[in-house]
Order: sequence, then C-alpha cells, then structure tokens
Amino acid sequence: MGKAEKEMPVIGIDLDGVCADFYGRMREIAAEWFELPVESLTDDVSYGLKEWGISGKKQYESLHRYALNQKELFKTMPMIPGTRKYLRKLSDEGYHIRIITHRLFIHYSHASAVQQTIAWLDGHGIPYWDLCFMKEKSQVGADIYVEDNPDNVMQLRTKGFHTICFANSTNKNVAPPRAALWSEVYEMIHEL
Ligand SMILES: [Mg+2]
Repeated sequence: MGKAEKEMPVIGIDLDGVCADFYGRMREIAAEWFELPVESLTDDVSYGLKEWGISGKKQYESLHRYALNQKELFKTMPMIPGTRKYLRKLSDEGYHIRIITHRLFIHYSHASAVQQTIAWLDGHGIPYWDLCFMKEKSQVGADIYVEDNPDNVMQLRTKGFHTICFANSTNKNVAPPRAALWSEVYEMIHEL
C-alpha cells in the first residue's frame, strides 16, 4: 500500500477552551450578568466558575443560558490563536479533523447552539471533516484527542486514548502531555 493510501489518524478536537476562548468571553458576559467591572473577575478560574461567585449547577446553567440566548456565546468567542493555522496544516497533511463538543447541555436551545457553532467555525475558517455534539467523547472514536476539561482528559486517558491536555487555569493539575500553544499541539501530534 502506498503512503498516500495509508489511513491517516483521526484527531478529536474539543472546541471550548481549545479552539474558542470560552473563559475569556464568558468572563465578559459574567461581568455584565453580575453588573461588575470585568477586571474584578479573576481569569484564574476553575471548572464551574466558582471564583466568579457561581454557586452551583443551577446558577451555572442560568448564566450559560443567558450567554447562549442573549449574547450569542458560541458565535462571539475569540478564536484561540493558532487554531486555524495549525488545524489547516494538519488537514492539508491528511489528518482527519473531527470536532467533538458537548455544547447541547442546555435544554431547548439546541438549534441556536448548533447554528452559532457552525457560524463560528465557518467565520473563522476552521477546517473539519466531522462535527459531533457528544457528551461521551470516547464513544466518538478518534486516535488522538485534544481536550481541556480535566474530567474528560482523565476519562479518555483511563480508557487508553492518547489525549493532549490543552493547558488553561481549569486543568493545572492534569499530567502531561500538555500543550499551552497550538504550535505545541501540532508538534506533539507529529511526534506520535
Ligand atoms: Mg473544552
């Protein structure tokens, strides 16, 4: 079998906190929500946003619903630098880019969640073959995952999937392999 016919690996890419600056945009929206200056909300947050005064699951979902429905959260997040450049490089080299996101967790807002996501991906010129809205990321099937959620990284690794942790304040305690920049993700994928 020639090199060109060889099956290239499937890369499972998370969106929030990996491609899109979820915490940066959410910080602006949370400041509006609480009527506080944005600088008063630390950018050193953990998953669940308790540092901003989010008291539990119900309040988190309430803020998220406001962000999605009133502030077009999924359409207005800045792109994390390097996302387009390095995903395009990988795609051009033949890697199969599979976006895997758990964005459908707010009930009755699925249409806007999906529409905002697609508009964002197109608007930022992100190349991808597949787009999966899934909670159980291990069931999607990818050879290499790039993920920032500490629980997801742990679960994927426990199941034997090679997972690069995209570093941010929510996953400080997660073991290597870790990448803080897309250029590092690109190098790590190449080394495999
Ligand atoms: Mg994420």
